Amino acid sequence: GTSDGELMIKDYSETVQISEKFNKLYSRMKMLDDSRQEFVSNVSHELKTPLTSMKVLADSLNGQEDVPVELYREFMLDIGNEIERENKIINDLLSLVKMDKSASDLNITSVNINEMLDLILKRLKPIAEKQHVDLVLESFRPVTAEIDEVKLTLAITNLVENAIKYNKEDGWVHVSLNADYQYFYLKVEDSGIGIPEDSLEHIYERFYRVDKSHSREIGGTGLGLAITRNAILMHRGAIKVFSTEGEGTLFTVRIPLNYIA
Ligand code: ADP
Repeated sequence: GTSDGELMIKDYSETVQISEKFNKLYSRMKMLDDSRQEFVSNVSHELKTPLTSMKVLADSLNGQEDVPVELYREFMLDIGNEIERENKIINDLLSLVKMDKSASDLNITSVNINEMLDLILKRLKPIAEKQHVDLVLESFRPVTAEIDEVKLTLAITNLVENAIKYNKEDGWVHVSLNADYQYFYLKVEDSGIGIPEDSLEHIYERFYRVDKSHSREIGGTGLGLAITRNAILMHRGAIKVFSTEGEGTLFTVRIPLNYIA
């Protein structure tokens, strides 16, 4: 009768709904799996590159009868640099994996942000001086916040280090701190090479570098901003970037003063 027919239609529409839900879930799982696979393949590639260089260098030394001492030294220096690079990639990967874990892993304490920034800039001062970059900190008010000091120190260090690295000779880096009743605000501005507009949406991706060869020259792994963004998001903060190619870049960061679990 009619009621049977209605029942059937109702059941059928439920089946359709369930199957749609399943399809959505499945494609989400597939996306996650794909991005994990992509990450693993990227990691392998990045770790292999220095190894390949070292192998080539070692092989060419081994293949020669009487290697002049100068050549030997030169190749050994290159091998040393590749080892250093491999080490940097592994360290960055370990930081990233730590940051990928849940926010419950945050070690929250009350931190004087002015002092934290002083220390970060003091550590980076020698690198800035070597590049003839003027590094300036401007604190507009005293700020104390509930944060994970180790993780945020790493995040901010990455930003300031990039601002120095991707700068010009005799350039400047300006770091500023401000706050209201709810958040503290950080700005890291530089007079550097800038980021092309079509790269802006990719810079937080793991291993993404605007100019692979140039970034490699100045010792990048492409993991720094991924680490920075993760650390900021774990604090329920936000990060934004503004940049003009050839003129400079501005990163703005907002972090809640009180940590909300
Ligand atoms: P890297 O280890 O290569 O510095 P990051 O994840 O820290 O990796 O940054 C990703 C890329 O974004 C860099 O390779 C660089 O091309 C670009 N970038 C980051 N910060 C700046 C900046 N302040 N000025 C210009 N380019 C930048």
